[in-house]
Parts: sequence; C-alpha cells; structure tokens
Amino acid sequence: MLEVESLSVAYQGSIRALHSVDLSVGAGDVVAVLGSNGAGKSTLLRAISGVIGLEGGAVTNGSVHFKGDDLRKVSAHRRVMSGLSHVPEGRHVFGHLTVEENLRAGAVGNASRGRAATLRDEVYDLFPILADRSAQRAVMLSGGEQQMLALGRALMAEPELLMLDEPSLGLAPRIVSQVTDIIRVINERGTTILLVEQNAAMALSAANCAVVLELGKVLLSGSATELSKDDRIRDLYLGNKDEAEFDLAPAADFRLTPWVA
Ligand code: ATP
Repeated sequence: MLEVESLSVAYQGSIRALHSVDLSVGAGDVVAVLGSNGAGKSTLLRAISGVIGLEGGAVTNGSVHFKGDDLRKVSAHRRVMSGLSHVPEGRHVFGHLTVEENLRAGAVGNASRGRAATLRDEVYDLFPILADRSAQRAVMLSGGEQQMLALGRALMAEPELLMLDEPSLGLAPRIVSQVTDIIRVINERGTTILLVEQNAAMALSAANCAVVLELGKVLLSGSATELSKDDRIRDLYLGNKDEAEFDLAPAADFRLTPWVA
C-alpha cells in the first residue's frame, strides 16, 4: 500500500533529518516506527503526508508511492482525499470548536451530509466519551480525550492508511492501554496503520512489524515479535524487562521486510 524508497529529507536546506530511508507497509498491516528523540520519526510521517514544507523541510531524494501512485506532485490535501490521514504529535484539535464541530471538520472531500453523519456515529460508537461530550469545546477535554478526538477526526476522512505520531505521549498508562486497544480495533475494521512511538512496548504490542530509526537511518526492521526479542531493542527501548510484561499481540507471521538497513 505504501512504499517509501531511499527517502532523504532536510530542513532549511542543510539540516539532514532522514538519510535514504526505505519502508514498506502492506494493506492491513500495523507498522511501528520506533526510535529515540530526534531519530526522524515525525519527519518521516510529515514527508509521507506532504506537510514537510510547512515545517521548513523538503524531500531531497527518494520517493513515496501510495497505492501505486507517486506522491511527489500530490498536495497534502489530495493525499488525504486519496485515503492517507496523519494525526500529528500533540493532537492539534481545534480547541475553540466543539467535539462535534471538530469531527465535522474532518469529513473531507465528497462526504455527503448523510455519509458524514454515519461516520460521526461510527466515531461515537468507538469513543462513547466523545458522544457524551459532543457539545463541549475541545479545549475542555482531557489529554486522553483530545487524543481520541484527534483519532476520530482523522477517521472521518475514511483513511485507508492512518498515520499516528506518538498517540501515547503524555497519557497515563491506563489511557495508553485504551489507545492501544483502539488502534487494534481500527485496524481490525480494515484500516492500515503506521504508528510512530517512543513507547516501544506499546507500539510492539499493537504492531505486526516495526522499523527502528536512528539518526535518520533505518537501524533495524522485522516483525514485532522478532524485534521485541532483539537484545538491542530490549536494551535501548524496553529497559530489558521480561517479555511477559508487554502483553505482546499474537505472533504475526515473521516477515523480514525489504527495508533491511
Ligand atoms: P521526537 O520524538 O523528539 O519528535 P523524532 O524522531 O520525531 O523525535 P524529528 O522530529 O523527525 O525526530 O527530528 C529529526 C531531526 O530533524 C532532529 O535533528 C530535529 O532537530 C530536526 N528537526 C525536526 N523538525 C525540524 C524543523 N522544523 N526545523 C529544523 N530541524 C528540525
């Protein structure tokens, strides 16, 4: 579904944030992108969704194909219309708008009123708390509720590929586990997911495969099951905890992906 090949990105012409990154996401996958601060995770999502220019960055080399189409000349808006949605880090809900208005703002393109209402009801079904708060301004919501609203708003565009940037950031462990469950449900309902996370335990429990970025390059890639057992991952990101603590998802088929560093 998504093919990223030899992607390089720089900010302000000279700050090189990604170096020749390869990544492949198949239909139905949940692919996690792990890495520490500054590894290039958000940059990767921005380049894929086409908003990198808003941050003073530019793709300097390589390509991104979505459902076979080269995205080089496709605007960010058209990428959303074609089924690619991005929930950026920090949620960015419209604080002065109500929950309902935020959701309506997410229904892009050809969604008729009726279709938008159906999608909204599906979001409320997934996040009952948002239905309860539908008339409340988004700024009044808790961090976890705002994350749910940001997710719900992205779902209003009926994405085929949903890219999530650090959905667990700043949330209490109980809420993180709810967000993880929601990611699984969204995936089971047919949406492919690209999940950027610093919380490796959370990401590996939700994903079937993963890639690790370090200093803008792919350090490791493979199935989530394999990577969760990799000593480098355990030392760097999992604090060498016992595997049983991570509630790993059922072992996905091992699939060493073609982006091996
Ligand atoms: P974090 O988890 O801290 O957000 P990250 O893995 O998402 O980290 P990026 O935010 O993609 O990493 O940053 C990759 C590199 O690009 C870092 O060196 C960062 O300082 C730099 N960078 C990111 N955004 C910009 C920007 N708008 N202008 C200049 N440099 C930037």
